[in-house]
Amino acid sequence: MKAGCKPAPQLYCPAPQPRQRRTFFFEPAVVNLNSSPIDKTHLKKPAHSLRPPPPWRGEIRSVLISRARLARRVHTLARQIEKDFAGRDLVIIALLNGTVMFLADLLRGVSLPLRLDFIGVSSYREGAGAGGLIFTKALRLGVRGRDVLLVDDILDTGRTLTRVLAKLRPLQPRRIKICVLLDKPARRVEKVAADYVGFTIPDEFVVGYGLDYGEKYRNLPFVGLLAPGIAQDVTP
Ligand code: 5GP
Ligand code: MG
Repeated sequence: MKAGCKPAPQLYCPAPQPRQRRTFFFEPAVVNLNSSPIDKTHLKKPAHSLRPPPPWRGEIRSVLISRARLARRVHTLARQIEKDFAGRDLVIIALLNGTVMFLADLLRGVSLPLRLDFIGVSSYREGAGAGGLIFTKALRLGVRGRDVLLVDDILDTGRTLTRVLAKLRPLQPRRIKICVLLDKPARRVEKVAADYVGFTIPDEFVVGYGLDYGEKYRNLPFVGLLAPGIAQDVTP
């Protein structure tokens, strides 16, 4: 090379690499009538990874779904409901008492004209047999020709919603859609599915965010698992 000449720039030319196989992970498809995908991210974490806040540490083993995740998911559900029921004559029917927190947060996010009513249902146990249901509050609003969104805290065996649907259908609503915060598909005995599901959870007994054990723990701002020794006769 002559003095004063710049050397030619070296072009970086990597050696050809063998093509790499990419691995994709697919979640099993979730059958849901709506386009809102079911949030299952909490299932990827170890179930007992989140410590409850100090006041609850003795009674609550772990947080299954945190307050922040509840808020995010309920907001998404509200958006979806708003979209699906826009322009409809909507009646929201919530089952007492477990829906209190979920319903209050959900309603705040649904900016549509709507009517609200409640049905009271309570389960009781006869000896060791399966629990029965008693209706503690009847529906007051007319639903004939209207769109009904039935809201419950958790869909477990499906007995409660099956009984409630059997009461609602003869009232001739235009359609009935079901919205639940939690779905525990492992224990289903009735053929009933929800159209809107907050979280699909494993076969564990949960409390908080409206859900109780002996009428306690409804005020927990998260969904948690009871500590051993607190739950006496809970069949998950
Ligand atoms: P299903 O009739 O579907 O078996 O149960 C529905 C009702 O059982 C819910 O509305 C709720 O009151 C109660 N339930 C079912 N699983 C749980 C649970 O894990 N925790 C609590 N606190 N209640 C539950
Ligand atoms: Mg309930």
